[in-house]
Amino acid sequence: MQLGVTGAARSGMVACGGWRVGSKLATTILRETSQSHHPSRIRARFFSLESLDKEKGNRERVIILGSGWAGYGLARSLDPDYYQPVIVTPRTYFVFTPLLASTAVGTLEFRNAIESTRLIPGSSVIRGWAEDVDMKNKKLTIQSAVERRLKDYGNAGEVERGKATGYDLVGGEKLEVTWDKMVVAVGSFSQTFNIPGVKEYAYFLKDITDARAIRRRLLECFEEAALPTAPEERKKQLLHFAIVGGGPTGVEFGAELHDLITEDLNRIYPWLKDYVKITIFDVAPRILTAFDEKLGKYAEKQFARSKIEVLTNHAVEKIEPGYIHTKEEGAIPVGMVVWSTGLKANPFVTNHLGKTFEISGEDRKGEWELVKNPRTKGLQVDNHLRTQLRSKTDENKIIPSDALYAIGDCANLPNPLPATAQVANQEAQYLASTLNAVAKREKNRSYVTAPVISIANEKPFAFKNLGVMAYLGSWRAISDFGHHKGLSGHAAWVLWRTAYLTKSQSWKNRFLITCQWFINWAIGRDINRF
Ligand code: FAD
Ligand code: MG
Repeated sequence: MQLGVTGAARSGMVACGGWRVGSKLATTILRETSQSHHPSRIRARFFSLESLDKEKGNRERVIILGSGWAGYGLARSLDPDYYQPVIVTPRTYFVFTPLLASTAVGTLEFRNAIESTRLIPGSSVIRGWAEDVDMKNKKLTIQSAVERRLKDYGNAGEVERGKATGYDLVGGEKLEVTWDKMVVAVGSFSQTFNIPGVKEYAYFLKDITDARAIRRRLLECFEEAALPTAPEERKKQLLHFAIVGGGPTGVEFGAELHDLITEDLNRIYPWLKDYVKITIFDVAPRILTAFDEKLGKYAEKQFARSKIEVLTNHAVEKIEPGYIHTKEEGAIPVGMVVWSTGLKANPFVTNHLGKTFEISGEDRKGEWELVKNPRTKGLQVDNHLRTQLRSKTDENKIIPSDALYAIGDCANLPNPLPATAQVANQEAQYLASTLNAVAKREKNRSYVTAPVISIANEKPFAFKNLGVMAYLGSWRAISDFGHHKGLSGHAAWVLWRTAYLTKSQSWKNRFLITCQWFINWAIGRDINRF
């Protein structure tokens, strides 16, 4: 799929001629690699809660919760001359999710798909989870996220998802930070529909640690199946890879896995070739429902050619080690299950932002709550991405908040948009440029005494659909630009690769991705397991 504006558009790569491309490129690289001397832009620096307050000066503090497409995009574009951005995130990096499936099979390396939040000029980063919110005093409680070595990490590490690294994230000390504005960009969680065994035994693909766990497991399946003593039935079981969910993520992972197997593993383990099987399960009657039906059909035909089995109208009932149970076929032996059936709301949004609270202001007496979308349970926002407060005493009294915004997967606009990176990125860019513009206009006011800056009179957010894409394996893809306009096959694949390369967030990664694609094409993927 395609993404928003940051990459190519900013560097001017697409639109300009030779010299300007060169000079703009040089400027962008310089900007990314050098430190400006403005104190608020110094990159790596220690800060305490006191120094944070001192450095705030005349600016509004904007706490950004999350470092995904929405949070990272906003932090990069918010002007530190006018705002003090503080990123609160349990992980130190941003993940370029469209390339996650590639990293899970070694088409790319893990570090090619992440960027450090610590390198955003002018931003302060606190590594922790947003824990609790005091809306009246605008105070956020953060629980630091630190890693501890797992004591029992050993042979069992493999089965426990997310623990492939031997470390686990544990909650540390609590700290409190106040805000003038807060932007909730905590994303969403994987939906398991409470199907037994999914949480315990399936692999998810949301974060770089998930991709690592998947890559280790699938290479392990091949290693075990290659043992001279492996029984026939066990080989079949180990080399059956099940994917649940026929959306773009499941489909792209299946395609990447197919490439890894046909281009590399079949060469290394030729005697295992006939045991390998990939199956995609979906309860719906067809896969890739976000695409035009013709493109969906093309994908199914392409998969049939690649011997990827697509079992639509199949309901998964249970997962246990070595087996996936469907209503239609009972227990099916598998080596691993990758689960990608959609999203559910982040528990921080459902629990901590689900409480009632008081707010200050003359006309704002009594208890209030945040308006949630009844279907997704996400935060309802207006067209300026402001959350909505509903009075507990008068159901019909709903006011927007200029202090609390929501963007990305956890936000719901009046006209619903899909939960994609494209949407999250555009929302982040809109909010950053709108906030920058109002602050610039009002730069002489004192933020300390004045009420928070309002963006009520600014132009509302408008989504520009750049289309959706999915990789299908064997250098083929599909792109859907809406209104029955689409592209399939090799041309769509070239577009897919170009889009991801240009939308990547740093020149370092653009360079590394290009090298990695070339190296893998020339000498094959790295299949070492560690
Ligand atoms: P996320 O990117 O999920 O980020 C959420 C952030 O919040 C994370 O940093 C997380 O650590 C942090 N967080 C969570 N809880 C807390 C808390 N309590 N306190 C503080 N921080 C917290 N979309 C496309 O448009 N095109 C694609 O090709 C595409 N491919 C995808 C492939 C995969 C494998 C996946 C998983 C998704 C893909 N998507 C794609 C969807 C896209 O990645 C999401 O829509 C997007 O990441 C949403 O951005 P977000 O910032 O809202 O959430
Ligand atoms: Mg992300």
